[in-house]
Parts: sequence; C-alpha cells; structure tokens
Amino acid sequence: MSNPGWADWSAVEKVDPELAEAVLGEVARQNSKLEMIASENFSSPAVLAALGTPLTNKYAEGYPGRRYYGGCEFVDVAESLAIDRAKALFGAEHVNVQPHAGAQANVAAYFAVLEPGDTIMGMSLAHGGHLTHGSPVSFSGRLFRVAAYGVRQDDELIDLDEVRDIAKRERPKMIVAGYSAYSRIWDFAGFRSIADEVGALLLVDAAHFIGLVAGGVHPNPVEYADIVTSTTHKTLRGPRGAMIMCRQEHAKAIDKSVFPGWQGGPLMHSIAAKAVALTEAASEEFRLYSQQVVANARTLAATLQEEGLRIVSGGTDNHLMLVDLRPAGVTGKEAEARLDEVGITVNKNAIPYDPEKPFVASGVRLGTPALTTCGMRQPEIEEVGRMIAGVVKDGASESKRAIAGRVAELTARFKPYPDVA
Ligand SMILES: *Cc1c(COP(=O)(O)O)cnc(C)c1O
Repeated sequence: MSNPGWADWSAVEKVDPELAEAVLGEVARQNSKLEMIASENFSSPAVLAALGTPLTNKYAEGYPGRRYYGGCEFVDVAESLAIDRAKALFGAEHVNVQPHAGAQANVAAYFAVLEPGDTIMGMSLAHGGHLTHGSPVSFSGRLFRVAAYGVRQDDELIDLDEVRDIAKRERPKMIVAGYSAYSRIWDFAGFRSIADEVGALLLVDAAHFIGLVAGGVHPNPVEYADIVTSTTHKTLRGPRGAMIMCRQEHAKAIDKSVFPGWQGGPLMHSIAAKAVALTEAASEEFRLYSQQVVANARTLAATLQEEGLRIVSGGTDNHLMLVDLRPAGVTGKEAEARLDEVGITVNKNAIPYDPEKPFVASGVRLGTPALTTCGMRQPEIEEVGRMIAGVVKDGASESKRAIAGRVAELTARFKPYPDVA
C-alpha cells in the first residue's frame, strides 16, 4: 500500500488552514534553527507515519490478550511488538509501553511500590535531577517524604559516600537515580549496593539516556535497577511517550498502577510508533548514530572550553553538558535570548550551587542528539561551538548578524525534514 490516504496533509489545510499554518511554521522552524535542547530530537518519517494512523481511534483498556473492549486483535499485535522489542533491546524481564509521558511513567512506577508518605531519595532539581524526583512543586515532593542528594561542590560529581550517608540516615523505601542535567556516566552498581545496604528499591529514570543504552554507548540500568522508567522521545528518537521496564516480581504492580491506577485507555497510535522507534533503535544505523552523538558532545565541550567557557564537571560522557557562563559575564537567561536571535535553540539551566535564581541561571544546557540526527559530525559541531562562544562572549548586533548568517548556511545543509520546503 503506497499511499493509504488516511493521513492526508492537504485535508488539514482544507479543514483548518489556521492550524495548518502553525504546523508548517513549526516544521519550518525545526528545519531552520540549530536545535540544541538536550531533551529534544527529530523522529523519523516512519515514526511520524505510525503516529498518524487510525489506531488513535481504538479503545484498548487492559493489556494484550486481556482487554476490556472487543476488536483489539490488531492493536494487541502492535503493543506486543513494542513490548517484545523493548525486552530484547534492553534485556528487560517485563515492559509496560502505555505511559503517556515520562512524568506519567514515574507517577505510575512510584505508586506501584510506594504508599503516600514513604521516603524517596532523588537527585535535587538544582543539581540536575528531574521535577518528578522529589521537587516540592511536583506530585513527588507533595506525596512523598524526600531526601535529596546532589553533586560535590569541588568536582561537581555525585559523591557516593554522601549518597550512602544520606540513605543510612533517611532509610528511603526507594532511591531514584537518573537526571535531566548531568553529563557523566552514572554509577549504577554503586547505587545498587547502597540500595541493598539500606533495603531500598532502586528506580533508574533513564528518560534522557535510554537511546544511548540502545546504541551500546552507555551502561544499561536494566541490569541493576528494580524498575527503569524512560521517555521514548529524547535520545531514543521515538514518539512523545514513555515506558517502564522492571523485574518480573514488580510486573503485576506496575501494570495495575499504569492502568487502571493512573491512566485510562492507552494511546495505541503512539504505542505503534514506539514499536517502530524500537525497531529503528535496534539497527546498526542507530548504533553509529549513538556513537556520533557522544563524539559530537565531546567535541562541543572541548571547543567551548578552548573558547574559555567552563563545562560543569570538566566535560561530558553522554549527549549533554552544562555550560557555566560566568567566565563570559552573561547569565543563562541572557545567553538563551542571544542564541535564539541567531537561530540556536538552547535552554538556560541552573548549574550546581548556582548563585542566580533558576529563572535567570548561570548556565545553559546543550545537547547533541538533534543535530546528530540531521547528519552533523565533528567539523560542523566544532563550528557550532565557536558560534555559541562567539554569541555568548560578544552580544553586539554586528557580530550576531554575522553568526546568524553562518547558522543559516549550516541549517540549509542539515535539515531534519529536507523534503519539506
Ligand atoms: C524528560 C524527563 C522526564 C519527563 O518526561 P515528560 O515526557 O516530559 O513527562 C522524567 N524524568 C527525566 C529524568 C526527564 O529528563
């Protein structure tokens, strides 16, 4: 079937021209800016096509083979494909592919094994953790007692001895490992042994780096953790969504917590797209992609250091880095605005022990997954690094104009969706 005709873009233009214009504007933006937000990526035409299928129409509460609705024989196949592929790729005993997003995966995972008021230990947001790891503004900080850990001030690395001390003092029922802004390989074995020492469960939130695990360039948390939660749209390059992997002993509790605990009907079109993404992520091409993501991040960090900026913890082992802008005398907020003006999209980010408020911040977070998807390698990334340093160090409109021109030349050659005008 070459053109099935159910996902006809011209129908959107006809039915809703206003919305169509916004969508085309967004695709043009993605095609013409340098996307360096570490949590973003560009999903493939196959993933996008799977999202735009009539599977969105189907109610399938329950799980393959045991649904609360009739007519599930084909969506059962789609969901089973996604589950089996994740099991094979990550060596997981049990997988749930229904969570709508990363935060939903975490809430379901926590409530599968915890009661409100239990103590959890997670990395503080200010040091690189995620909101759902115990921040007071998230469900996690409101419904659980939180003991936070962070990084050392001198080398900006996690101090396992400190983590162990906190765990022994606070006796958490679960330790959450994982980050949104930490550029080093996490010591999963170290966290496992601390969890065992204090009788805690270990949950690894692999939202950011799961694609690197799939590509074989990052240790696999499934080997160490009781439960692994992950998004599917960051380094994994799939549709916006999430999944939970766990040991068999938690399988029933996890499934019950996702549905009916926290969600209703699964998004079957999204689950179909997760299946496609997982098959792509098992390919040799994805292995090479992941290697390039990490090589590009190393090159970017080294270039920025040569330009006199400071990389938090001195470098990166993964796909992201935090840049301390204080040597250049600008805040994260100002740098984000300046970079946006030249067509480089980043987010301001607090650095550990940041003297600025989070909304101002002393740093920016940069990632290479999206630009690597566009085909950029070290030479282009080095140029991008020089441009970032140039804009950060010199906000004069003349130099910004020159850099904007170079950004436009680069994005003309490396587009995520080259077939779109
Ligand atoms: C992105 C992220 C999440 C949340 O994912 P959403 O899909 O935005 O809900 C959870 N945990 C970590 C560590 C993340 O980086």
